[in-house]
Formats: sequence, C-alpha cells, structure tokens
Amino acid sequence: MGGRPRKIKKISKGTFVTVLVINSGSSSLKYQLVNPENGAAIASGLVERIGEEIAFIKHAYGEQEVKLETPVADHSVALAKVLELFDQVGPALSEAGIVAVGHRVVQGGSYFSGPAIITDEVRDLIEGFAPLAPLHNPAHLKGIDVARELMDVPHVAVFDTAFFQSLPAEAATYALDKEVAAKYSIRRYGAHGTSHQYVSGKVTEFLGDSELKQIVLHLGNGASASAVKNGHAVDTSMGLTPLEGLVMGTRTGDIDPAAVFHLSRVGGMSTDEIDTLFNKQSGLKGLTGDNDMRAIRDRATAGDAEARAALDVVVHRLIKYVGAYTAVLGGLDTLTFTAGIGENDPDLRAEVCERLAFMGIKLDLEKNAVRSKEPRVISTENSAIKVLVVPTNEELAIAQQAMSLI
Ligand code: ADP
Repeated sequence: MGGRPRKIKKISKGTFVTVLVINSGSSSLKYQLVNPENGAAIASGLVERIGEEIAFIKHAYGEQEVKLETPVADHSVALAKVLELFDQVGPALSEAGIVAVGHRVVQGGSYFSGPAIITDEVRDLIEGFAPLAPLHNPAHLKGIDVARELMDVPHVAVFDTAFFQSLPAEAATYALDKEVAAKYSIRRYGAHGTSHQYVSGKVTEFLGDSELKQIVLHLGNGASASAVKNGHAVDTSMGLTPLEGLVMGTRTGDIDPAAVFHLSRVGGMSTDEIDTLFNKQSGLKGLTGDNDMRAIRDRATAGDAEARAALDVVVHRLIKYVGAYTAVLGGLDTLTFTAGIGENDPDLRAEVCERLAFMGIKLDLEKNAVRSKEPRVISTENSAIKVLVVPTNEELAIAQQAMSLI
C-alpha cells in the first residue's frame, strides 16, 4: 500500500445509506461505517501510533479482520490507508453508500448546541475552542482536515458538549470572579453529551414517556453523570473539562482545586506535571495501580483490601451524585447505567442500588445478572424508581445526528 493520499472525487450511493463516523485522536484514527437506519456497524477499524516508527492498523468487515503494522507518517496517510482497506477488504467505497462523514468533536464551546455541517467557518470555530480542549480539538482537526480533502461528501461535527448547552445558568456557572470567567470562557460545558443524549432518549423511547426525571450514569474509562428532565439536560458532572465529577479510570474526578496550589508550592510540581497526574495517573489507576475495572473487581473478590477501598470511593461518589441530582430534579423516575462498566458490571450496579434503597430503589437481582445488548429494566415491579441498563452507541448517535443535517 502506497503512502500517497488518494482523492475520492465522488462516492456513489449504493443500495443502502451509510455514514462514516470518525473519532480522530492525536496519534490515532478510529472509524465505523454505520447504517443510521438500523444501527448496524457495517465495518470498523482503527489506526494507532500515527507518526511513530510503526503504526498498528485494524479493519474489520463482516467475518474478515485485517491487521497491519506499517509506518504511517500522519493522519492524511492514515485515512488514505483506511480508504484503501475499504476497497481491498470491503465494503468497496463505490458500493458503501457513504452519504456523510460524522466527526466526533469534544469541545464546541458555548457556540454549538447541536451538530454542524463543517464549513471553513465551523472548522475555524473548532480550532478556536482548542484552548478549552487542548488534548482533543487539535487532534479532531487533523482527522477533519484530511477527511474533507479526501472525501467529497458533507462532513458533520457532532459535539460532546452540545447536549449540555441547555444547562440552566445556575448549573453551568462556577462561582468564580465573573470577569475572569467571561474572559477565559470558564463555565461547565460537560462532556459525553452524545452518549447522555442517546441513552436518555432511549429510556424515553423504551418507557414511552417523555416527561421523565432521569439520571444517567455513563461509567466507562471516562465516567460522568447527568440529570435530564423531560429530555433536557439540567446538570452534569463533567465541567470545564472532562476531569471533574466521578472517579474515573485514570482521572481524579472532583478534587479541591487547592490541591493544585499545594502540589505546586509544596511539591514543586509544574502545571503540566499536575495535569498529567490528575488526568492520567489518578482515579482507579492512582488508587490501585489498575485502571481496568475487571481487574479491580477480580482483586476485590479475591480479598484485596486496596481494590475494595477504591471501589468504596467509586460507589460513595456515585451515590453522592445520585442524591444531589435527585434534589436538583425534584425527584427521580429512572436511574440508568451505561458504558463499559455500567453495562457489564452487575456487582457495581448492585452496590450502588443497595446504598440507594432508602429512596425506594429495589433491584431485581436476577434481572441485574442478565447480560444483554438490549435496553432493559433491572429493578423490581414495586421499585419506586426504575433502574435500567441501556447500552450506549456513540457511533450510531453521531451517524444519526449527521443524517439529521443532510
Ligand atoms: P471508554 O469508551 O471510556 O474507553 P468503555 O465504555 O469501553 O470505556 O469502558 C471501559 C471500562 O469498562 C473498563 O474499566 C473495563 O474494565 C470496563 N468493563 C468492561 N467489561 C467489564 C465487565 N465485564 N465487568 C466490569 N467492568 C468491565
């Protein structure tokens, strides 16, 4: 496979319509070809370690999976290789029916409250929000720029922050000097919004009730909680950045900002060192050395006190947020678990719900133990609050939002 990017002039429509969803990171490019109507993931893959000596490429289509290790100089070469793989392994681009490319973008500032067709102006706005998401937006732009060059279809940006633009001012505002906050655009933007919107929408659809007071717990490597009333977000745990809120795989979640002053003055640490400590070396990893919940769960089950203590911190933080958001909502109809841990760790769900029994939450332990890819209620008939597991699907949500604009 040659390294020169190939320009795709026109992608003709096949028998079905698809959206190519791209999540571009600083040294990676993940993609999924989605049928936005039935949610099928037709093909998917990733390119990792872009710019390093040897990159890793994986492309999966039906039963076929191709893995390659080869140098990939930049995102332009990465996408060209992906497009080649589509033609070699399938589905051929001429038959893939791609009508749009949906790009995941973490930070849309106070400007974007929904998806946007990427024009030059929109691209520049995304660049302008880079100081608010220095790890993410510049990396997304690499993917956006090369995809716009190589693929002659509408490109749509779907923002992680958009769902939370509806937060009431009192929830979005930090009690910071208002001129400083305005000058530096400091407010609560939230993140994981595409997932919270998708999952809370599924709950509404599943229960056939659009007037619900909902809490959604998105518990993956990153973790966040949201309070949703009648389909609109009214609070969320991630703030200016995805660092705030719940205990995460490698992030602290809530921590007294004075810890920063202390580590700087007493520990002599630089801003970048503290940033790395809080974002990459804390959370479950900082408490136990592991950031994979499965490993921590296994250790706790085997009697490891450190792992058990970390789980206690996780559960404590979760029930604190559920209590707070129930008060914000003025009651609660549904509590929904989603993402890697939320969907797959029945023990964590049981521990959280046990601590919330005082609210009238009753978990059906048999239903809680069932593994499924479908949305489901796991509380008992007489539970005061319905507890659900709803698998998230950010790629499908991005594909559907992209389709809504074209
Ligand atoms: P992200 O998309 O934020 O990287 P995911 O939503 O994929 O993360 O979630 C990853 C987390 O889910 C990891 O901590 C992983 O250990 C956890 N996880 C996956 N399967 C299970 C399981 N069966 N039991 C407990 N945790 C699980």
